[in-house]
Amino acid sequence: MDCTQVKCLALTFDDGPGKYADKLLDTLKKHNAKATFFLEGQYVKQRPSFAKRMAKEGHEIGNHSYKHPNFIDLEPGAIRNEIKKTQDLIYKTAGVTPKLLRPPYGMADIQVSDIAAEFEMPIVLWTAGSRDWATKNEAEIKKQTLAVAQRDGIILMHDWVKQTVDVMPSLVQLLQSRGYTLVTVSTLLKSQNLQPGDIYPLPEGWEK
Ligand SMILES: [Zn+2]
Repeated sequence: MDCTQVKCLALTFDDGPGKYADKLLDTLKKHNAKATFFLEGQYVKQRPSFAKRMAKEGHEIGNHSYKHPNFIDLEPGAIRNEIKKTQDLIYKTAGVTPKLLRPPYGMADIQVSDIAAEFEMPIVLWTAGSRDWATKNEAEIKKQTLAVAQRDGIILMHDWVKQTVDVMPSLVQLLQSRGYTLVTVSTLLKSQNLQPGDIYPLPEGWEK
């Protein structure tokens, strides 16, 4: 898939594998859509079969820490430990090594960026949120996502929010009917040629 040629959009699901991931994976499969899951090590341990299925069905798995601490508050050793434990567990469970880091709460500073570089990972945030965790309402999630969807956008969602998973069949169909191809983040960002430690999109106040 070449996102310089087609209108791509990346749906990303944080904090999982969530309770409802299985149903979400069924929906994505049915509509031939790919997504990116930023997983927490603690839930990979709890729901290994979901993580395995994500990788098997061609979705991308990113690292979202082991227990979701704010990296800004941690010593470097603790940040490394959060990332490493999760990398190892995802590899052991799903047979893939995550290539992208999304720190909890999207909180990153120079230290976090330097450590991401040690792991050879860029940091990927999002261009817009579905606000699903705040509204927990199917109609609102759909409305908000459609409002912020744009070509090459990265949308933040959560597979532990039941309403997100429930509204996904109709949301995916609507996005596809508007011409979007739903792809993984790595497919979306291929032409950006991100380097380890880079942050995308760059938060306000950061310079390249
Ligand atoms: Zn999170």
